[in-house]
Amino acid sequence: MLIYMNLWIPSLGEVEMKPPVFDYLTPSSLTEAAQVINETPGAMIIAGGQSLIPALNFKLAWPSALIDIRNIPDLDTIQIDDDEIIVGASVRHCDVEKDQRIGKRHPIMHKAMAYVAHSPIRNRGTVVGSICHADAAAEMPLILVLTDGYVTATSVDGSRTIAARDFFKFHMTTSRHDNEIIQSAHFPIPNSMGGYSFQEFARRSGDYAVAAIACLMTLDNSGKIEEVKIAGCGISHRPIRLNSVEQVVVGTTLTENDVSQAIEALAESVTSPDDIHATKKYRKYLAGKLLSKSLVEAKERAQKRELS
Ligand SMILES: Cc1cc2nc3c(=O)[nH]c(=O)nc-3n(C[C@H](O)[C@H](O)[C@H](O)COP(=O)(O)OP(=O)(O)OC[C@H]3O[C@@H](n4cnc5c(N)ncnc54)[C@H](O)[C@@H]3O)c2cc1C
Repeated sequence: MLIYMNLWIPSLGEVEMKPPVFDYLTPSSLTEAAQVINETPGAMIIAGGQSLIPALNFKLAWPSALIDIRNIPDLDTIQIDDDEIIVGASVRHCDVEKDQRIGKRHPIMHKAMAYVAHSPIRNRGTVVGSICHADAAAEMPLILVLTDGYVTATSVDGSRTIAARDFFKFHMTTSRHDNEIIQSAHFPIPNSMGGYSFQEFARRSGDYAVAAIACLMTLDNSGKIEEVKIAGCGISHRPIRLNSVEQVVVGTTLTENDVSQAIEALAESVTSPDDIHATKKYRKYLAGKLLSKSLVEAKERAQKRELS
């Protein structure tokens, strides 16, 4: 995150912003791309370049070659199946933002997209690029974790799927092998009879989240929470499912006391250390407030859907 801050501060003008020398390769098929990345040690994939180019300019990344995947056919499609949305590796944030089918079938994904950076960045940056970059405060990784999504990785050895819970290892660290290309991200579609809520606080519109909480919820006939999924980003070294909080609220009617207990359960999952944006203590306070808003809003939406 500091990378972006530095780019905006004119007093750091003395920092040399020239990328290291690299080869630039443009495979025309996924098979060719898999061969090229396998045969080129130190090569990196470039998609939208919105995170990688700043990293190159600050010499935080020294790839031997950049493999541009934008000319590979079929990676730019959004496929909407009965139970999941499959986002190809060169689908940009703005493609998801403008896709009304996603607004209808996966409203929380659509809502979260509005918090991803600014429109010039959304016009180039990709959803899969964001997932591979794996910033611990990024929105699309959070939605993938929330919905029990997964990615498909392709290499010369074949394809494999990796569950979101196993993919994100640490801030900007994933379980992708060096020779793998992430071909697509799969976002399971939430229950249409349920409610959702996405709550984020950032210092300025378009910044990464200081903290964000996302919630999906269904109610039973008596108004008790039947099923709930809750996840957070910006609060830990990676996007996390908040299972201990889910256990506290499931089966309840979400009284004030239930919400207080959920906030208490959340506190131990807020592990990000103090940084330039917030202290750990403030993040705990903030995450608690966001959780409370998120639970209440998700319940309200769940109630409305069951009445309709
Ligand atoms: C000022 C600014 C503000 C931003 N704010 C936010 C924000 O609020 N929320 C947010 O989520 N993001 C934010 N971003 C990041 C933005 O969303 C990026 O678009 C995204 O993180 C990376 O997508 P990209 O397509 O540009 O990837 P690139 O920059 O091209 O690549 C990023 C990394 O992913 C790897 N990669 C990309 N695609 C693949 C693939 N298919 N297989 C394997 N590896 C791959 C690259 O090798 C690289 O390591 C911000 C960026 C900037 C510059």
